[in-house]
Amino acid sequence: MEANMDCGCTNCTCDDNMETITNPCPECGTPGNQISEKAVKANLKKEAARNIKGNGIYLCPDEECGVSYYSEDYSLKFDLSDLKRPLWYKKDSDPVIACYCNNITEKQVVDAVEKHDLKSWQDIVFHYREKTLCLCKKINPTGECCTDFFYSVINKTLKSIGKEPVPVPAGCTC
Ligand SMILES: [Zn+2]
Repeated sequence: MEANMDCGCTNCTCDDNMETITNPCPECGTPGNQISEKAVKANLKKEAARNIKGNGIYLCPDEECGVSYYSEDYSLKFDLSDLKRPLWYKKDSDPVIACYCNNITEKQVVDAVEKHDLKSWQDIVFHYREKTLCLCKKINPTGECCTDFFYSVINKTLKSIGKEPVPVPAGCTC
C-alpha cells in the first residue's frame, strides 16, 4: 500500500491543482484570466483566430506586456498586433476604447462629459449612436462588461472639471 502524501490525503492531487490555478503569461509571468473562446475570436484578426481550436485561452492582464492572449498549453501566443482593436488597459493603446460594443473611445466619453454634461453610460452612448448594443461578454476583449472602466472615465473627467462624481452602477448597465 502506498504511503500518504505529506498533506495527509491519499491519491493526492494537490500538485495538479496548483498547476491549474496559475497560468502565468509566457512573456511576463503575470497570472492570466481565462476568457471565453467567443470573446477571444471576436477580438483576434482572422488569421490569428483560425488557430484556436478548443484550447483554453487566457488574457495577460499586465499593462506593460506585449502579449494579449495565450493558450493554456502555451502552444499559442498572440501579441497586441494580432488584435483587431487595441486592448484598453495596455500601455500606449490608441485609441483607448471605453465601450467595445458601441465602439466608443475614452476621448468620446471625456468630450461628452466636458462639453455636453452627460454622465451615464446610456446618455453617452446615445449621444454618439442611434441605438445601444450590449455584447460585452461576446466582444469585450476581457470578456467582462465595460461598465467599471466606462464610469472610471466619466468620474475622472467630472473630477477634472470640478464636478461631483456619479455612483458606479453595480453590475452591467447596458
Ligand atoms: Zn504578459
